[in-house]
Formats: sequence, structure tokens, C-alpha cells
Amino acid sequence: MSADPSRLPRPPLPSADWALFLDVDGTLLDFSCTPDGVHVPMDLLGDLRRLHAALGGALALVSGRRLETLDALFSPLQLPAIGLHGLQRRGANDAGHAPPHELASVLAAARDLAAKYPGALVEDKGITLALHWRNAPAAEEPLHEFANSVLIDLPGYALQPGRDVIELRPDGHDKGDGIAALLDTAPFRGRMPVFIGDDYTDEHGFDAVNARHGLSVLVGTRADSAATHALHDPLSVRAWLRDAAHALAPEVAAAT
Ligand SMILES: [Mg+2]
Repeated sequence: MSADPSRLPRPPLPSADWALFLDVDGTLLDFSCTPDGVHVPMDLLGDLRRLHAALGGALALVSGRRLETLDALFSPLQLPAIGLHGLQRRGANDAGHAPPHELASVLAAARDLAAKYPGALVEDKGITLALHWRNAPAAEEPLHEFANSVLIDLPGYALQPGRDVIELRPDGHDKGDGIAALLDTAPFRGRMPVFIGDDYTDEHGFDAVNARHGLSVLVGTRADSAATHALHDPLSVRAWLRDAAHALAPEVAAAT
């Protein structure tokens, strides 16, 4: 396990009364060139399954991806989850949200613009739209300008910046809202909340668990974070989860 160069301490291993919330990209999974290119290690699936059971079901994925995409990625697991940065929740899906008709023309214009920058990618998530430039740094400024310019056509929408991505999404929902909502329901209610995430969108989640005297764990060494603890990278997160699974479910872990 690599040493953690962050100023922040590593999180302790969990106890059985934790509620564990896990961001996906850049936290559980290493980044890929495209959103569809990520790899989910088999060991991780086993560790998540054991931890989910050991925590009485109080383990949830918290992602900007759709729930359907999360289920496909982590199949055959179907974990409690917050999708689309809080717009979707397992068991309490905000099904009332439908994309405004203006989003179709914005999507078409975004694809036209991205086509001018090889490697730039427009991800259609239904109600939200993500503009990626991880493989096309020259597209960052034009995609930012585009996103700002079309906001006026999308009432109730806001920009959500991330790492090499900017997202157009309905305002008023974030990962912190999603975590808070799950914490009001069983089996999460009454447990100590712990959230692990890497990106700026995860700061809302850090604020939510800090406000409830939980632990917030930053993946990486970013200085401008409200997190109280840190792990170095997704590899370190997966190693911590492996140790956690062994600590909380030793007899099951030993049998597999
Ligand atoms: Mg992330």
C-alpha cells in the first residue's frame, strides 16, 4: 500500500455502526479515457458485497452516473445508490424529473462543437448533459463557453464543474442532498455517516457528513477540500475496503 502524501490522516477501519457512502469514478475505480472504459475489479465486487452485508445494508454508491449504469458496472451487485449527483435515489427515485425539450437542441449543438475537437465527448445522461475534455485539453475553454451560453435556454439548470468535465444539470440537487435523504431512511438512519470521494462535486457530500459528525475522506491531495481524512488514490481506497471487509466480516472473507 502506498504512503499517503496528503496532510490529512488515513481513515480508521470501519465499525459495524457506520453508514458508508462511496463515490465511484476516481474513488472506487481508476479513471479511463472514456466514461464507458472503466474497469471494475472482481476483488472489489467481493469486498463491497461483504461490507454491504456487514454494515446491515448501509453501504451506498454516490455518483454522477445513472443508477442503470451503476447497476451494469457493478453487476451482479445492486447496491443502494445515489445517481446523477442526487437526482436519482434507489427506492426513492425522483421520477418526476423529465428533461426539458430545449435540452435536445442543446445536445445537438454540443455534439457539433465537440466534433471539432477530437477526443472531446458529450455524454447524454437523459436529464443531464456532461461535456468531457479529458482527451482534448484544447476543448476546455470552448466547452466552458458553450455551457455558459446555453444556460439561458435551460431554466432551472446550473453548471456543475468536475475534473475535466462540466455538466449541465437541474439546480438544487447535489450529492449532499442525496446522502442526507438516505440518512433519513433505514438502514442508514442512526449510523455514523462516512463518505469517500475525489472530486469537487463530492464536497457537498463531505459537508453533509461533517455536519452529522461523520468522517469525510478525500481521494487525492487536493488542498481546497472540507474532508477530514484522505486516501491517496483508487488503489488505496480498494486496499482500505479490502482491510475493512476482513475486519468486519473475517469469517466470510476467509471463506472466499
Ligand atoms: Mg469521483
